[in-house]
Amino acid sequence: MTNETKRAAGTGGSVVVERCQVCDSPDLESVLFLGYLPPVNQMRTVGERPHEQPAYPAELLRCRKCQLVQIGLIVDPAILFPPEYPYTSGTTRILRENFAELRREATSVLGLSGSELIVDIGSNDGTLISNFKEAPGWRNNVKQVEVLPSTEGKMLFRETSSDGTLTMEVVESRPPGRLVTRIADKGLPFGGYWIYEIIPTKEGCQLNITEHGEIYNPIFRFVSRFFLGYTRTLDTYLKNVANKFSENVAITNGTPANL
Ligand SMILES: [Zn+2]
Repeated sequence: MTNETKRAAGTGGSVVVERCQVCDSPDLESVLFLGYLPPVNQMRTVGERPHEQPAYPAELLRCRKCQLVQIGLIVDPAILFPPEYPYTSGTTRILRENFAELRREATSVLGLSGSELIVDIGSNDGTLISNFKEAPGWRNNVKQVEVLPSTEGKMLFRETSSDGTLTMEVVESRPPGRLVTRIADKGLPFGGYWIYEIIPTKEGCQLNITEHGEIYNPIFRFVSRFFLGYTRTLDTYLKNVANKFSENVAITNGTPANL
């Protein structure tokens, strides 16, 4: 991309696409023009009296160099996706199925093993990438991980396990050494946060996990103490990590990390 790339976000206006948004080539051809359309949620009912409203050119361009097909005008996302915008990919069953199919197809066409870095650009609510995320299946007690729309810039994801679902928030992420997550669900009998730290050692590295758990309900505290075991979740996680890297696991108690 060139340095003078203009951005529409936050300007209240639009930017005409003059160069390919992936390879920066100016060689773009118009393949379809649907006329001037109002923002999608401001379309008027058929039969309603016409009145003044903004409209934006809906033109589809194809880059002759890299073949990327892209829209010819970037409208400020604040205009197209206001807070009351109701649509996310995950709310449409056909789209969810289509993305799952796309994941299966891409996995076989590209020969994916589950260890690749997969990036979903413009991922909406993460419905497509969640199919890839569940595919490796290295945590045997977790059935699915879905990325949720972020709130206040914090990444949110929902884990589904045999114990139910849990919404987690990424509090801090400093790759490659430190990750802090916390339970974002409200009204549960328990809460808390987890600090993951990777510390280099002579042989490789050591993963430290500090769990700061809180149990609010006395009955759940009793159940947890006697039937679940406080450390069960952590032990399972560490064993799964070890299996993932085909390592023998030695779980020891360490010094808790601070937030
Ligand atoms: Zn291109």
